[in-house]
Amino acid sequence: MKKYINLCMCLLAIATCIVTFVATLAVSYQTALARMETETMRQASLVAAGLEHIDALNNTQRQAYLHAVGKSDRSRVTVIEQDGTVIYDSNYDSKQMENHIERPEVDEAIHNGTGESSRTSATLGQQTYYVAKLLSNGQILRVSNTTDLVTDDLQRAIPPLVLIILVLVALSIWLANYLTHRLVRPINTLKLDNPSQNDIYVEISPLLHKIHAQNEELQKQIDKMRHQKVELEAITSNMSEGMVVLDKELKILSVNQAAMRLLGAALQDFAGKGLITLSRDQVLNRRASEAIKGRKTEHRMENQNGRQLQIFCNPVQADGQVRGCVLLIVDISEKYVAEKSRREFTANVSHELKTPLTSISGYAEMISNGMAQPKDISGFAEKIHAEAGRLLVLVDDIIKLSQLDERAPMTVQFEKVDLKKLLESVSSQMRDYAEKKQVKIHVQAEDVIANGVPRMLEEAVQNLCSNAIKYNRAKGNVWLRVTKCGDMVYIEVKDDGIGIAKQDQERIFERFYRADKSHSKTIEGTGLGLAIVRHIAQLHGGSVGVQSEEGKGSVFTMSLPQNPNILNE
Ligand code: ADP
Repeated sequence: MKKYINLCMCLLAIATCIVTFVATLAVSYQTALARMETETMRQASLVAAGLEHIDALNNTQRQAYLHAVGKSDRSRVTVIEQDGTVIYDSNYDSKQMENHIERPEVDEAIHNGTGESSRTSATLGQQTYYVAKLLSNGQILRVSNTTDLVTDDLQRAIPPLVLIILVLVALSIWLANYLTHRLVRPINTLKLDNPSQNDIYVEISPLLHKIHAQNEELQKQIDKMRHQKVELEAITSNMSEGMVVLDKELKILSVNQAAMRLLGAALQDFAGKGLITLSRDQVLNRRASEAIKGRKTEHRMENQNGRQLQIFCNPVQADGQVRGCVLLIVDISEKYVAEKSRREFTANVSHELKTPLTSISGYAEMISNGMAQPKDISGFAEKIHAEAGRLLVLVDDIIKLSQLDERAPMTVQFEKVDLKKLLESVSSQMRDYAEKKQVKIHVQAEDVIANGVPRMLEEAVQNLCSNAIKYNRAKGNVWLRVTKCGDMVYIEVKDDGIGIAKQDQERIFERFYRADKSHSKTIEGTGLGLAIVRHIAQLHGGSVGVQSEEGKGSVFTMSLPQNPNILNE
């Protein structure tokens, strides 16, 4: 704009100078012409007066006077008789000049005493101004001047005029530059952030007011967007699920920390980078590309830490067009492990049920085929009964476990349980079994009241106590203890039995795991007892652990919060 204003001002200045120059020339020409005519008129009057005076003397003096006048002045002097014969001309030989009676100025002078005319001279071939005066002796005096005189004068004036014009043009260009700069400077230094603070041309005020209003509107919108962004960031950063927003070129628009963590990427700014920089998983990138084409896709993958991820790729549409896609990354490891253990559990259950059923079926078949001797039948029936009993215990344990599986900790109703009484009750229930195994049970309990589910806690202590008797030796001992420390209560079942090998200690709480294969065959069990104990402990917000030494005995400890209700709140 600055250049444009400058150019316009320069052109205006130059045009003004040129017009002034031409106008000055025209006016000067006209003025010079008028002055030349007045001068010619005045000369004619002077010369005529001189001739009138000389006429009284003689002709020779008249000639001398006319010569003198003709030489001294640039004007042409001509004397013409009344018949038009030229008797004297200061510039030409009068004898060779034609009759001038037809000349308008001569004709006018004869009739009016004075005549004038302006035309191209037939003699000189130049534009000439003539003034003729009738003398008292009847002769006509004519004085003339050519316009060359005027143009000569003007030509002399042109060089200084041109010089002046050039100086003016230069001055104008400088002035145009200076003014443009002064005009534009306040506009260039406008404080657009705070338009009301500008002290500038009144004409710009409406524009500044408009900018001010738009600035305020813009600021409101920016604040609103910033607020929404902060809200969105707060939501996404606190999400445990990963979220990645991609544009149509699979460039990352936003990614939360959970997504970076789950995909095993370093915490950094991924904005504008490709999805491949966040995850090199080819299938994930393919699924995202498919989502960009408008199709919802899913992908399951395992990350570097062995976590199982499920990724949902959803296209984002606006105005009927896909603008990008959103990836939602969910850690399904727990679900995956639960699914896996359920599958394993089903396989184990089938396997464990099959063994006694096969025996029962075998014995029953032998009896029905008549293959069994009558004396063996009662033995077979006893075996069938024993296997059926095993089956019942197994099914019972499976039912207990699946019931425990279905109960979430939140839904368990706790009540006050006297743990000392509970241990004594279990001890008396187990007395017969212990005597049969020649094992002594000792109860060493403090008066501890805890919150819990009495039936479940009793079941757990029963399982631990029966194991302590089962995996003991003759004349062995079992100690049932309950102690309290702070907010925790500890139920301890100790024996001086066969103990558990180090490598088995971690696994005995798994479902269907039985430690020593050799004695597992002789000692009956389902391999579910400790799994039930662990489940019950967890439902009470606690845990169960074991310390054992082979050949010396084992100590199982259930650690439970005294008031698990607090955990549920
Ligand atoms: P089971 O029905 O086989 O007893 P449990 O889940 O109760 O199943 O126990 C798992 C395994 O842990 C048992 O097979 C046994 O090998 C071992 N075990 C449990 N309690 C004791 C104990 N007090 N002393 C030695 N071994 C034990």
